Amino acid sequence: MLSDTRQRKRSKQREKVLDVVRSTKSHPTADWVFHEVRKELPNVSLATVYRNLNLLAESGKINEVLCDGQLRFDANRDEHFHFICRSCKGIFDIDETRVTSPDFKLPRGYVVQDVRMDFYGICPSCQASQ
Ligand SMILES: [Zn+2]
Ligand SMILES: [Zn+2]
Repeated sequence: MLSDTRQRKRSKQREKVLDVVRSTKSHPTADWVFHEVRKELPNVSLATVYRNLNLLAESGKINEVLCDGQLRFDANRDEHFHFICRSCKGIFDIDETRVTSPDFKLPRGYVVQDVRMDFYGICPSCQASQ
């Protein structure tokens, strides 16, 4: 059994990790989250941050996003798509859900539970700076 203080420390770390992921729309990496959490909890380890990110993803509080082979995290739990900029590697939320038309049907026998689709291209700010 964990002591009360240890338990409290753990849930404080988890809350901080969640706060950090929720504080940005940039779909941060674990390293970035670690860096931010450490500003307030200097003794936290990268392993702890990883463990908490996994727990938060398992409990459905955040989403894992695989982008270019890199695992990133997303606090936006609403149904949305991602636009990935090939220039700045930014991930942008696209709230347009009409792209999955209800008329679209897979061959018989397949029951769809989830759709994953990403858009790749150049984001507006990269276009502006080109
Ligand atoms: Zn860009
Ligand atoms: Zn997102």
